[in-house]
Amino acid sequence: MSSAPSSLDIFAARKLAGLEKRNLRRRLVATSARDAVHVEQDGAALINFCSNDYLGLTHHPEVVEAAQRAASDYGAGSGASRLVTGGHPLLFELEARLARFKGTEDGIVFGSGYLANLAITPALAGSGDLVLVDELAHACLHAGAQLSKAEVVTFRHNDLEDLRYKLAAGRSTARHAMILTDGVFSMDGDIAPLPGLLELAAEFDAWTLVDDAHGIGTVGNGRGAAHTFAPAAKAPLQMGTLSKALGSYGGYLCASRDVCELLRTRARPLVFTTSLPPASIAAALKALDLVERDPAMTARPLAHAKRFCDQAGLAEPSSPIVPVVLGSETQALDASAHLHREGFLVTAIRPPTVPRGTARLRITFSAAHELADIDRLANRVRHILDQREAAE
Ligand SMILES: *Cc1c(COP(=O)(O)O)cnc(C)c1O
Repeated sequence: MSSAPSSLDIFAARKLAGLEKRNLRRRLVATSARDAVHVEQDGAALINFCSNDYLGLTHHPEVVEAAQRAASDYGAGSGASRLVTGGHPLLFELEARLARFKGTEDGIVFGSGYLANLAITPALAGSGDLVLVDELAHACLHAGAQLSKAEVVTFRHNDLEDLRYKLAAGRSTARHAMILTDGVFSMDGDIAPLPGLLELAAEFDAWTLVDDAHGIGTVGNGRGAAHTFAPAAKAPLQMGTLSKALGSYGGYLCASRDVCELLRTRARPLVFTTSLPPASIAAALKALDLVERDPAMTARPLAHAKRFCDQAGLAEPSSPIVPVVLGSETQALDASAHLHREGFLVTAIRPPTVPRGTARLRITFSAAHELADIDRLANRVRHILDQREAAE
């Protein structure tokens, strides 16, 4: 059994040791959720302040029941790609509902948000085109841009001057241009300057793709980052996920009929992958019902974040994502361990998820959190920040 380790295993072990030394090794810990905010890890009961289950819909009785019913009625899996076996009628219904919710002609559902972004940019841009990406946009927007074979240029975070400069420099020699940004930024919680960005896009004839994975259900009356502006600033390509505030699984794009039809025919992560299981589709449909029925519910995560920031002495947040930037990997890991001992699950976020030197706690708020727990966490975070200041 104990033969000499292969070069493959030696390679993996060395890589891991290097990451460990730089405090960049990540470990998966078994965590079971009792409800939207209470979890158990290694026997410890913790309150989860780092999940994206902003509305607690993963455990909402109506959502769970819809998923159970769909699994009993239609089976556990979907069997094949939609282009082979045809799509489940529920999937067409979900696409129509998403389009209505986002105010577009059509919508497409993908296996996940990550897959959606691997699908969209490569289906629309290629060699000879220019793709401009906000430097802090989600990893899968960057991955989709790279996969497209277009020229990829990053612009400074939320910096319209820099974007204009780069459009002016590259647009005239490119056949087509795209601009890629998060709506609500996943690690910083700030919102893209969409009206100005769309104006630039119009001026330079660039197609804008907004990834609102963290915006749907949480800002703009639950309708997303576009609706935090008046009038709403709607990009022609509105992408998002069913996996965060909607409590289910899967990704989507809302766009014009022709754009969606083109993607249905050409997007490889749609054509060559099995479609969502019926339970996930039914859960997302029910979650959309709840969000449309009760916009007041969608205001709660941000209200919780504001209360927290006020008490912890942090700047007012614009979404339920609150970054507490600490700097080094060790500082972030230590702060996370401290909160863990106090009964809070707040994972340290380290490079490459965030830029070097900006390791942080990323605290997220759910409609399901209790005010007393929010206040207790604010107190602990204020303490961490005070100690840090005293040490400087
Ligand atoms: C989580 C996330 C995704 C990926 O969505 P999944 O459905 O989890 O694959 C895409 N974009 C952003 C901004 C995200 O935060």
